[in-house]
Amino acid sequence: MPGLSEMEYPVKIANLKKSYGKVKALRGISFEIAKGEIFGFLGPNGAGKSTAMNVLLGLLQPTSGSSSILGESSSELSPETRRKIGVVFEYNNLYRDLTGRENLEFYASLYQVERKRIGQLLELLSLAESADRRLETYSKGMKQRLLLLRALLADPEILILDEPTGGLDPQSVEIIHQVVEDFRSANRTVFLASHFMAEVERLCSRIAFLNQGEIVTIAPPDFLKKYYGQKSIAVKLESMSEDRAEACRLELREILSSDISIDINKNNNIIEIIIPLEHPELGFWIDRIRKNFPVGEIHSREASLHQVFISLAEEQEAPVLEN
Ligand code: ADP
Ligand code: MG
Repeated sequence: MPGLSEMEYPVKIANLKKSYGKVKALRGISFEIAKGEIFGFLGPNGAGKSTAMNVLLGLLQPTSGSSSILGESSSELSPETRRKIGVVFEYNNLYRDLTGRENLEFYASLYQVERKRIGQLLELLSLAESADRRLETYSKGMKQRLLLLRALLADPEILILDEPTGGLDPQSVEIIHQVVEDFRSANRTVFLASHFMAEVERLCSRIAFLNQGEIVTIAPPDFLKKYYGQKSIAVKLESMSEDRAEACRLELREILSSDISIDINKNNNIIEIIIPLEHPELGFWIDRIRKNFPVGEIHSREASLHQVFISLAEEQEAPVLEN
């Protein structure tokens, strides 16, 4: 029988380390995920998110440390516990030559899932109309929705999702987000790896920020954004020749202070100047740029994950909010 704390914390990770040869993918991470929360795992490529999830699921041996899921140690998960875990991973496979429905029926037979449930889930993920088409005709977004559906078939208690929406069309992203929120609202738990700030911001109650195998901070998304993120004004110049754009960039770099960034989009030679909203001389600089350069558009930008990372890299000690 799992104890009360296992019921309250379906995921526990304690001082987990994992090296691949000389590469230290995880340098001792610890956290617990509470029942009923969507816990975000946010970090750039190579941060160690997938490694941690693989260890948690018992698919990889850690170098040291421990983890448990639904009260059982990751390395000794029973078939009953495995059944309660729904997983969507980056490299999950589906059978191309089968239809969507046939793919699901194959899994459903392993878990003794009723056919009726397949129909309901197909509706939920807006796949009912395409269910009898072969998978090779599916878009990436449809395949990913089918993978989520498959993870939900056995009515799991916890979902473990590794970057489930990367590169998908907005409609698929929206459907996936809604389904994940509905899943959670039944007091079930989600562990979601992502590198999209907007995604974790919408869905998660807490986020662990992972960078180079270390947790930099664990905090609610509002806090992360307020503390590290920064709104800014983007001034875009009109498209110009490559040579002219480079000349303008140099000229701008000369006059603008170093906390104002200047990027050139190499595809269309459009220069974008990013000024922090709180910059004390914001108005002055915008005026000056307008007078001297061909300004195309000016708009405000939300705090981006990129900025959060830059701020985090600059922080010596990041505050950790305990909940
Ligand atoms: P993320 O999912 O956050 O992008 P990963 O867990 O995939 O990060 O990778 C963390 C680090 O471990 C990276 O430096 C990656 O190159 C390395 N890594 C991942 N898998 C392997 C492997 N099988 N062999 C060697 N190095 C690996
Ligand atoms: Mg990954």
